[in-house]
Amino acid sequence: MYYITTHDSPATGLRGIGDTTWQHHGACNGLKPKVADRIFFPTARNSGSIAQAKAICGRCPVLETCLNAAIDTGTKDGIWGGRTEAERERSHARAAHRLEYNRVRAVVAGRDIPLSTRERAAVAREAVLRGWTPRRLATVLGFTVKHSRDLMGKARHELHQATGGAIPATPPAPEPQDAYEDERDDMTTGAEEFDALEGPTDAELAQQDADLGQAA
Ligand code: SF4
Repeated sequence: MYYITTHDSPATGLRGIGDTTWQHHGACNGLKPKVADRIFFPTARNSGSIAQAKAICGRCPVLETCLNAAIDTGTKDGIWGGRTEAERERSHARAAHRLEYNRVRAVVAGRDIPLSTRERAAVAREAVLRGWTPRRLATVLGFTVKHSRDLMGKARHELHQATGGAIPATPPAPEPQDAYEDERDDMTTGAEEFDALEGPTDAELAQQDADLGQAA
């Protein structure tokens, strides 16, 4: 069974990595490429095209998804979600520091949602608390095992500090099965070990964050 069960894990309403199906519902869908380019990728001074794009976006049913997609992917060019590049600037800057618990919970529960650095750190803390192997976290975040091991080491250190040592500074010795799994190249595991379908609650994540803030 795969760790990431994109089709079986609960729907969240969040857009998955690489999911562009929302574009079919955009109010701009169906415009001729030349027209779309002129309207949605205008020069900064072309106020006529900008106004035209905003009018189309204003009646678009996927406006928010479109805006989030541009921010998640760091797309700077063009008008997305009714906002110009300049209007999205602050959102792009904030995205790197974003910490939205619904996104963290979704990833812990097996969804492939794009995360900020802070959100990935929150998932790593949850991985430590749940006793995940680095390979399991690597699969969930799309990282290498080495990177995940580093991330979990940092998370464990933070939790160790925040809990006054209640969380051990070093991970427990892996069970033989875990050790095997950690070294394996494929992404499969026993179905009985898949317990990620329920993510942490917002309150649990907020408490972790508050504890870490106090410990800092
Ligand atoms: S928000 Fe604007 S750019 Fe995005 S899909 Fe809708 S119409 Fe197109």
